[in-house]
Amino acid sequence: MTGSLDRSATWPYDEAGEPGAFSYVRAEHPNQVAVEEELGRLEGGRALLYPAGMGAVTGVVLTMLPPGGTIAVAAGAYYGHKQLFDHLAPWGIDAVEYDQTDPPPERADLILVEAPSNPLLTMPDFEAAVAHAAPVVCDATLASPLRVRPLELGCDVALHSATKVLGGHDDLLAGVATVSDDDLYERLHLTRRLTGLVASADTAWLLERGLQTLAVRFDRMEATARELAARLDAHPAVTVARYPGLGFLVSFDVADGAAARRVETATAVIENATSLGGTRTKLESRNRWEGERCPEGLLRLSVGLEDVEVLWGDLERALDRA
Ligand code: PLP
Repeated sequence: MTGSLDRSATWPYDEAGEPGAFSYVRAEHPNQVAVEEELGRLEGGRALLYPAGMGAVTGVVLTMLPPGGTIAVAAGAYYGHKQLFDHLAPWGIDAVEYDQTDPPPERADLILVEAPSNPLLTMPDFEAAVAHAAPVVCDATLASPLRVRPLELGCDVALHSATKVLGGHDDLLAGVATVSDDDLYERLHLTRRLTGLVASADTAWLLERGLQTLAVRFDRMEATARELAARLDAHPAVTVARYPGLGFLVSFDVADGAAARRVETATAVIENATSLGGTRTKLESRNRWEGERCPEGLLRLSVGLEDVEVLWGDLERALDRA
């Protein structure tokens, strides 16, 4: 249950002059601990909260990738990860993309898969990934721990942008990494404390509140997404409809970039906005951000809580402009 909000940055030592459970906010704070307990329970491991999904992946990679090492990243997955690793290339990080439905490349020192990938919606070959000698990190933001639990599948780290469906209301920025190995937990915790990759009490509190409704939001969004994906698949203006069989995200293609722009700007209920996993449905062309990484006509639909018929009516009207 969400408790009180404690914004303290420091707590007094005990009567013997020793630090208690909380002394300085960068190490640990009560709202962080509370939400980490809940996240750890959902995922089946020990959770660490971060101030963004990107903060979580940064903490994980700085801790787990050896200097000069190679990270194998799922192609067609969240483009920000590859951008980050390329940005860090001067520090010796070598990032190679690979088809996550196949085994990872031999030379990988760390593997980052995404279940399912955003926005191409492929699922990793978990068996092949965990059979590799390198540790495996799985970003399961789109599935949530309700549908995919990477630690149970043999991965070393389960990663989430908690900004998305875990928070669920488009009003916070956070990330989470969950592990089962105690030694790895301590190493990640030390990196987090020393780099200051720490989420605020307000963020932790809001995330804990969001988690209370995760299961009902997820079920409803998923049922609507499944229905919309089937109808999109049958629509004459849609050349490809992708739905991985779980979750709230659908991606579909119209003829070209101009058609995608006309469709995304023609909706009345659905927001033309970025991000995913919130209560309100959003649609956007991903080519504007990802360039040649994704088809020009690809539209990403993050299905929210609105009525399925209202959403379909809106999409049908917008698709008339394709
Ligand atoms: N992972 C996935 C699958 C995402 O979609 C995103 C953001 O869109 C991130 C990670 C990064 O998360 P954040 O924006 O919370 O830093």
